[in-house]
Amino acid sequence: MHEFSIAQELVSQLKGLLMQYQRRRVTFIKLAIGRFSGVVVESLLFSLTALSEQESALKGMKVEVESSNVEYTCNGCGHNFQPEHSAHTDPINIFQALAVSCPLCGHEFCSRKGGDELLLLTVEME
Ligand SMILES: [Zn+2]
Repeated sequence: MHEFSIAQELVSQLKGLLMQYQRRRVTFIKLAIGRFSGVVVESLLFSLTALSEQESALKGMKVEVESSNVEYTCNGCGHNFQPEHSAHTDPINIFQALAVSCPLCGHEFCSRKGGDELLLLTVEME
């Protein structure tokens, strides 16, 4: 289970932060998960909840997830752009992503930058 090991990773990262800042517990975290990261957000949250229930320092922690931005660069004219929202709010379809065409010159081969990351954006501790 991919998501479970990511959750384990996050938990140990959070525990490390608690030690580093000498705090007792984590109350809130915010994650940025790219829509091309291959991470199933529901599974990750499920694993994270299950793991944090076993850690008194993380118990009851709130988790917020935002999907991070994706940017494309046109291989034809070099134009950087973000895809139309409407076309990309649905569950990810890699083929759809590859079919993004440049709004300036209409070139059909555009390279994607970003969208496959998983970042810990905010951590609130007390
Ligand atoms: Zn172009």
